[in-house]
Amino acid sequence: MSQMTNNFSKWYIDTIQKADLIDYTPVRGCIAFKPDSYEIWEHIQAEMDKRFKETGHRNAYFPMLIPESFFQKEKDHIEGFSPELPWVTEAAGEELEERLALRPTSETMIGHLYSNWIKSYRDLPVLINQWANVFRWEKKTLPFIRTSEFLWQEGHTAHVDEEEARKETMQMLSIYKEVVEGLLAIPVYDGQKTPSERFAGAVDTFSIEAMMKDGKAVQAGTSHYLGTKFAEAFDIKYLNKENKHTYVHTTSWGTSTRLIGSVIMVHGDEKGLVLPPQIAPTQVVLIPVGPWKKNPAIVEKLDEIFAALKAKGIRVHLDDSDQSPGYKFNEWELKGVPVRIELGPRDLENQQALMKARDEDEKVSVSLDAVIEHVEKELEMMQTRLLEKAKAFRTENSHTHIETLDELTTHLEKSKEQETIPGWVLAGWCGDDACEETIKEKTKFTTRNIPFNPPTTKHKCLNCGKEAKHTVWFARAY
Ligand SMILES: [Zn+2]
Repeated sequence: MSQMTNNFSKWYIDTIQKADLIDYTPVRGCIAFKPDSYEIWEHIQAEMDKRFKETGHRNAYFPMLIPESFFQKEKDHIEGFSPELPWVTEAAGEELEERLALRPTSETMIGHLYSNWIKSYRDLPVLINQWANVFRWEKKTLPFIRTSEFLWQEGHTAHVDEEEARKETMQMLSIYKEVVEGLLAIPVYDGQKTPSERFAGAVDTFSIEAMMKDGKAVQAGTSHYLGTKFAEAFDIKYLNKENKHTYVHTTSWGTSTRLIGSVIMVHGDEKGLVLPPQIAPTQVVLIPVGPWKKNPAIVEKLDEIFAALKAKGIRVHLDDSDQSPGYKFNEWELKGVPVRIELGPRDLENQQALMKARDEDEKVSVSLDAVIEHVEKELEMMQTRLLEKAKAFRTENSHTHIETLDELTTHLEKSKEQETIPGWVLAGWCGDDACEETIKEKTKFTTRNIPFNPPTTKHKCLNCGKEAKHTVWFARAY
């Protein structure tokens, strides 16, 4: 059995290290993003940022240190976050009068400021996003997926009423879905979180959920309708058109560098990283082969191809180092570079080159006249192909015929015996927290979300057999 299926987390960590994406630091759970992983983040950022601005949002920046008293103002919020907060208690050699938390998220600081910024209905809506780092002191860490410090964006908006705020919550969720499917080629289910999985302080939480290659789920983005909870806690009121003081309705929404981990776990293979062309730091690598050093025409031709691809805005690298071609092939495959072009003396004689897509087994020969067009087309096709492959994998590992907890237990035993992945289970849920808890205790399956468009509708609760209120995705999750 391969390492990937045998020990997925070892495969994941090895893949990250071989691709030179991160380094560990002496601070537990805090990783350094090396240039390749940071550039992947920059491509995600660029697309998200464009979508946020198209929908009327602007970026701002808020302080990283948050006074303890701010957390006390919203009861659910402090309960949810206090176990994972790191604190600053001392500065300039003196103990602080009030300790300061390194932000886990910024609803409190922003709520405090919005109460000053918002006075009248004319000030609304407030549509702001922040790109920042946040801290959540995690017991068990995994690069990108769960780290003590991570990078993210957090949107914070304020609206005149519930209707407008809920519309915003849904709009941002659908932007997340489009970007994750379009740019990262990761299919997701959008839906609503059950109350026990809600964001601390939210009225409703919605999420997009993605299936990794070991069958576990990653929550890839969340959007929260916060009602007037934070408005009441921080006294964010406006004068409405009837001259009455009214609480605003707020939302918040976020995606993080977790998305990088998801890309690795969804597309990676035995040979290493496989990057969707749209986010790959290097999209095309050009490699001279055969006795190319004695034949300057080879590198001249590759220089020409390099310039033409660059002019088209394609991120291209020419590897004319003195390593062997085999070594280079392996190296660039580890890094997940989408397309490789090989050119040797015989190819040049025949006016052709060999092209290899990272996710396909066969090399194809392409004419040198049309090599630029072939590369452009292949990058596009690979982007689509990766999404289709990930969809097929998800369908294969989604189980929609498991009706009872006994059947789920049997399914898990069988998948352990046969060394297959347990995948996700679509099942009914009566709405009772206790049923969710029992399922979690017995199987480690948690509710992922109540999908808006489930493949089929379920009628009986997986645990108690009573009438189901919801059809839910259950899975083990990161
Ligand atoms: Zn039940």
